[in-house]
Amino acid sequence: MYRTHTCGELRLKDVGSEVTLAGWVQTVRKFGSITFIDLRDRYGITQLLFGEDLNEQLEAAPLGREFVLQASGTVIERSNKNLQLPTGEVEIRISSFSVLNKSAIPPFTIQDDTDGGDDLRMRYRYLDLRRGAVKRNIELRYAVNRATREYLHQNGFMDIETPFLIKSTPEGARDFVVPSRMNPGEFYALPQSPQTFKQLLMVSGYDRYYQIVKCFRDEDLRADRQPEFTQIDCEMAFVEQDDILNMFEGLIKFIFKQVKGIDYTDAVERMTWEDVMFHYGIDKPDIRFGMKVANLKIPATVFDEKQAAVAASPIAGSTGFGVFDNAETVVAIAVPGAAEYTRKQLDELTDWVKRPQIGMQGLVNIKYNSDGSLKSSVDKFFTEAALQEIAKYVNAKPGDLILVLAGAEERTRKAIAELRLELGERLGLRKKDEFRLLWVLDFPLFEYAEEENRWVARHHPFTSPKPSQIETMIGNDPVIENAAEYLKHPYANIKANAYDMVLNGNEIGGGSIRIFQRELQEKMFAALGMTQEEAQHKFGFLLGAFEYGAPPHGGIAFGFDRLCAILGGSESIRDFIAFPKNNSGRDVMLDAPAGIDQKQLDELNIKLAL
Ligand code: ASP
Repeated sequence: MYRTHTCGELRLKDVGSEVTLAGWVQTVRKFGSITFIDLRDRYGITQLLFGEDLNEQLEAAPLGREFVLQASGTVIERSNKNLQLPTGEVEIRISSFSVLNKSAIPPFTIQDDTDGGDDLRMRYRYLDLRRGAVKRNIELRYAVNRATREYLHQNGFMDIETPFLIKSTPEGARDFVVPSRMNPGEFYALPQSPQTFKQLLMVSGYDRYYQIVKCFRDEDLRADRQPEFTQIDCEMAFVEQDDILNMFEGLIKFIFKQVKGIDYTDAVERMTWEDVMFHYGIDKPDIRFGMKVANLKIPATVFDEKQAAVAASPIAGSTGFGVFDNAETVVAIAVPGAAEYTRKQLDELTDWVKRPQIGMQGLVNIKYNSDGSLKSSVDKFFTEAALQEIAKYVNAKPGDLILVLAGAEERTRKAIAELRLELGERLGLRKKDEFRLLWVLDFPLFEYAEEENRWVARHHPFTSPKPSQIETMIGNDPVIENAAEYLKHPYANIKANAYDMVLNGNEIGGGSIRIFQRELQEKMFAALGMTQEEAQHKFGFLLGAFEYGAPPHGGIAFGFDRLCAILGGSESIRDFIAFPKNNSGRDVMLDAPAGIDQKQLDELNIKLAL
């Protein structure tokens, strides 16, 4: 038997017991003739005391960091207790020990605040995983996994595996492909998600499916993306949107409770896509804080229902200030208590919005001083009474700083959203330990692809339009005659039965009610510019299945890695993946991807064109 206890287990009540522990040497400290060793395993750290009697053996084969040690002895009470450690009231007086394996000197220290840089830690990820900080993340991931399975099992979901060697799934990324040796010149695609399979399972009658599953997307890796990542993938039959929303906010609340001990009893807020875009400028708003966007001016082609409200804005007509008058969109936020910002701070904010990532020309500021007076960077163009009007429209209070951006609709809206988040961060309003969920509903069904002058699916091509808009879709030709006026095409206004779940400004999940009739699915493929032959070639199996009694169905997938990272209070999903890839998609430990032998290439009938 290698051990009687783990290194995290022994307490005062065990004093007097004879025990054997096995683990890794964390530290070796010599005090005169006595040696202390901290022994570490997955469960904790226990202090071992080596008396003079063992010195000869220790000197003959000195112990180093990360040696694997087995040691036996008696549990004794420590005179010098360490109450930071759960085992800190005891130590083991060692009577015999043996080195199970030696270790080279580790390239970085195996402790929470390590001296190892990112690259080094990734190259030696198996050592990095020994560190408590990483281990806690992996443990949290497992806790989220367990809670997910428990909730879904309790609710009648079945975990059904789906294949990895498949045909392309259209989630909007490039496929990773795998050459087939047995079918020369042919390739499998790795699933971007199990989307079509879970829909087929609904046709097969498995009306509640889930999987915690790997998905593969060959994307240019923006910060914090992984080419292979994990989803909690779910699908249900005989459901409407509300059934799905209720079931899955239940899942997230259950995870909160099990993993973080948080009772999230509030109903999850639900907002339409139009509303979030209008009030926050982004489709995944962080609603932990207010500072909502005020729309002073918008183009006539967006937000149909909001036009009347914006028409009442104090700058709706001509103001004499060209920047506003010539802009498509003028939006503002009122930053609480920031009227006291200095000139320098305001200049810095202006530079911030002018950075290429934000791309604005400038930033107008209006200080609504505590005494009620107003002072702005555009005093030349606006009287104090006019500024007062703006302040009122923007819902500012004395003491606030009003920041105004003007420009083209898309860019300006995105910029105000970024500015809001930045100031929320600076003012400490984005609290790490606060969790706020939000459902965003009714996304547009289509997006306009400018380069190709055609429609693409905003979510994926299996998402159903709002029932009231199916006629609009069937009854209209998808062709866009006039690219400049694509927003006037009836398709631009079709909303989808699609929903995203947003947590603290992160999209953690998304899904939709699906199309389940062949005719509508064919119309959708056609709307996306696919010929009938193409649709048949790519998705004939699904269209075929829809002819054999497909039930109404819908589903959702959550980004499992991201969910873990947020619950763990981290920005980076890599911290929560045992063996992640770096930002260029490389596994630096394995040194993959890598070339393969000529023999393998020959077997696969592949000639490299490099
Ligand atoms: N397959 C979708 C995705 O990966 C999720 C869903 O529609 O259920 O985003």
